[in-house]
Formats: sequence, structure tokens, C-alpha cells
Amino acid sequence: MAAVEACRGLRESGFCGEIDILAPDDLPTYNPMLVTYYAAGLIDYSAMFPYGDSNEVFSRYGVRLHKRSPAVKLSAAGRAVTTSNGETMRFDKCLIASGASPLIPPIERMSTSRILTIRTVDDAMRLKSALEKKPQRVVVVGASMVGAKLTELFLRAGSDVVLADRADRIFPLSAHPDCSRIIEERLLGTGVKLRFSTEISRAADTPEGLEICFKNDLEPLYADILLMCAGVRANIGFVDRDEIETRQGVLVDCRMESSVPGIYAAGDTAQGTDLSSGAKQIVGILSNARRQGYAAGCNMAGANIEYAGELPHNIVHFLGMNFVGIGDPNCCDRCESMEEGGRFAQIFYRDGKICGANMLDFFSEAGTFKNALRKSKILSNDRSGHVSQAWGNWPDWQNILARMDPRGFMVLRLRSLGQQSNHISF
Ligand SMILES: Cc1cc2nc3c(=O)[nH]c(=O)nc-3n(C[C@H](O)[C@H](O)[C@H](O)COP(=O)(O)OP(=O)(O)OC[C@H]3O[C@@H](n4cnc5c(N)ncnc54)[C@H](O)[C@@H]3O)c2cc1C
Repeated sequence: MAAVEACRGLRESGFCGEIDILAPDDLPTYNPMLVTYYAAGLIDYSAMFPYGDSNEVFSRYGVRLHKRSPAVKLSAAGRAVTTSNGETMRFDKCLIASGASPLIPPIERMSTSRILTIRTVDDAMRLKSALEKKPQRVVVVGASMVGAKLTELFLRAGSDVVLADRADRIFPLSAHPDCSRIIEERLLGTGVKLRFSTEISRAADTPEGLEICFKNDLEPLYADILLMCAGVRANIGFVDRDEIETRQGVLVDCRMESSVPGIYAAGDTAQGTDLSSGAKQIVGILSNARRQGYAAGCNMAGANIEYAGELPHNIVHFLGMNFVGIGDPNCCDRCESMEEGGRFAQIFYRDGKICGANMLDFFSEAGTFKNALRKSKILSNDRSGHVSQAWGNWPDWQNILARMDPRGFMVLRLRSLGQQSNHISF
């Protein structure tokens, strides 16, 4: 997803040279966030490919696509990349946009066929076929957004589902413990069993099914399918860490350039600015991948575009709930909550400033809040004095956010404030 935007950025910024893309498979570009929808039968196979079957987008941008040719080695000093076919291609500039793969914790494994992950089109096919078989017992490891979606799919297929995590609650990275508790109560009401503060250690085939053991000596669980949703790891195995500075991903500056001039990274491989903490983090969401990809492409073509960063935000609809997590609830020092008619909202503060929110069934307000907070963060992080004219006319974003009322007035208030000025739109 980041690579396509990079090609657009390159061409729109006037680059006329050659662009080569290396891909590990022979599939058109797919959107990983749609694979669960396909597996659930909610969309057709073709809908996973946003640019169509023939990848017309690459002919539009004059790109040579090298199918079944994943990068296996990148030499920054030699300005060359080697593919799995042994071919070495030289480059003037290079973008690392190889995404991420599901993380499988280091467990003792005696079976692989019953262990599923979800990211690729192949994963989607395996998941679809597993759902069609309507397995009786399913264990989901990882109380993440993807874990919640898969819990829902198998529950609807009639399976008994256990959702397990080494954290002590659901959505540990995006939900405040108060919000997690409400979601967990609702989950228990649907029949899902929860097993938190426990880490998987072993999965082995036995006559009774897949035996799943946990580190703290809890009773093992027996399952027909084990779904691993314990996060992702950047696909940067081909990057020489002595040459290019990496941590969890490739460290990039605000132009998406790595520590080596001329080598860029974008999307789930890139460790750019997380607006909620100001730290260098991978923010693994689609909007970030696309914006980073576009900025990288423009800069590779010689432009000088700065990308301020992204605010982690997630929306998940599952089992009749809409959960929205904005920012990092684990770094707030105060929060305000309200519960009304089954809806729940919570605003997080750090050093007296709003830094995030959780919303449960306050779906319509989420986008407005997220955009306002994102803009306020960009303003407060900007030390260059180059704040866009339009945003510069709104000097007090924190005040605007502070006046937002989680009971549903926030959109109205923002709209009426917005009407006083033509400079900003949400
Ligand atoms: C189930 C699921 C649900 C999601 N839901 C959401 C959501 O609701 N909202 C949201 O914002 N985000 C969501 N995401 C995350 C979102 O899909 C990613 O953040 C986004 O796709 C990242 O784009 P990318 O270009 O970095 O990586 P990708 O889109 O994964 O593209 C990377 C490409 O690089 C290829 N590649 C890998 N290794 C190599 C190699 N060695 N050489 C060459 N090519 C290689 C891969 O095959 C892949 O095609 C979801 C992800 C998943 C899996």
C-alpha cells in the first residue's frame, strides 16, 4: 500500500526515470485489512485488490513489477538489491516498503497446519476454509483488534472461542483498563472465554486435538484451530543492520529517509514519528503507510516534503460494538470518563493536555476528534515555524479539544467553531 503511493509521489513530483518494484508473489497489490472481510464472506475475492486484477496502477505510473522476486539482501554501500532469484539490481534511490508479518511467539510447536495467522491473501484463503469447516474449539492468542475480529468470526460460525493474552486485558495497547473492562463484560455475555495474564508456551497435536500449554501452568486448552494475533514484526530481514539504522523498523526522519542518504522506508517497516508520544515508533495503520509512501516518493524525486507523523488510532466493529482507540492510554496521567445509555467515552490527558481517547459506540464523533487531536499535535510538535497558514490561524487547539464534550456535543461545537473561519475543515 505504501509502495503504490510512493510511485504516485515520484511521478507527480516529475520523476521520469525507471521504477522497479520487487514483489514476493504474483498477486496484484492487496490491502491486508480486507482479508478478514473476504474470509468472512463479506466481500468477493477481487475486492481485496484495490487497484484491480491487472494492477493497472503500475502501468499508469510506468513501473516494472518483478513478480516472485522478493528482496533477500540490500547493500546500502553497493547501492544494490539482490532478489531470491539471485538477480542483483542497482539503484540510485531505494524505498523499503515491505510491510510486516504476523509475529509468532517463540513456542514449542508440534503442528503448523492448525495454527493460522492473518495478513496475506494465502492467510485469507486458509482462514476462509477453516471457517467453512465450522471448528468446534478455537483459541485466539492476542487480544488485539485482529484477535477481536477473528473471535467474532468463529463465534458466529458456532465455535467455542477462548481469547488469551499475556496482558491482563483486552486491547492493552489502545484501551484504558476501564474501557477494557466494559468490553470484556460484553464479551463474556456472548459466551467468549477470556484467559488473560498468561503466555502460550507450546502447541502440539494430540489425539484430543491441538494441545495448547501456557507458561504459568494453567490447565492446557484443546483446540481445533489456534489463531495467532499477537502483533506483527517489520519485514526487514534483508536489511543489513550495520549499514542502516534500525530498531523494530527502519528509523526514518520526517522526509522518510533512513540513516543512509537515498534509502527511504515507509509503512509498517518504517519507524517514524508517533504523534502521541513524539517518539520514533512504527504506527502500523493504513493512513500512515499511504502518507509516508507518498512523502517518500516525492522526496526520492527531489522534492522536500516533511511528514509530521501519525497518531495511533484504531477502529474495530465487532460483536455489535464499535471501539475506537486514539493515542496511547498507557501514557496518560489523568482521564475523564462518562457512561451513558451503554455508550462510553473517555478522554486522556498528559501534562494537562488531551492526548487521546477511547470511545465505545461513539462512532460518529471519532473521526472529528482524531483529526482535531492530530492537527493539535502537529502544531505543538512543529519546531520549524513552518506551520501551515490554515492551521496557524487556530492557535489554541488544546482549548478546542478541551471544550469537546464526549456526550456527543463535540461535533456540533466544532462545527459551530469552524463556521467562524473558512480556514479549517474536518
Ligand atoms: C487483518 C488486518 C486488519 C487491519 N485493519 C486495519 C484497519 O482497520 N485500519 C488500518 O488503518 N490498518 C489496518 N491494518 C494494517 C494495514 O493493513 C497496514 O498498516 C498497511 O497495509 C501497511 O502498508 P504497507 O505498505 O507498509 O505494507 P503491506 O500493505 O503489507 O505491503 C507490503 C508488501 O511488501 C511485500 N514484501 C514483503 N517482504 C518483501 C520482500 N522481501 N521483498 C519484496 N516485497 C516484500 C509484501 O508481500 C506486501 O505485498 C490491518 C492489517 C491486517 C493484517
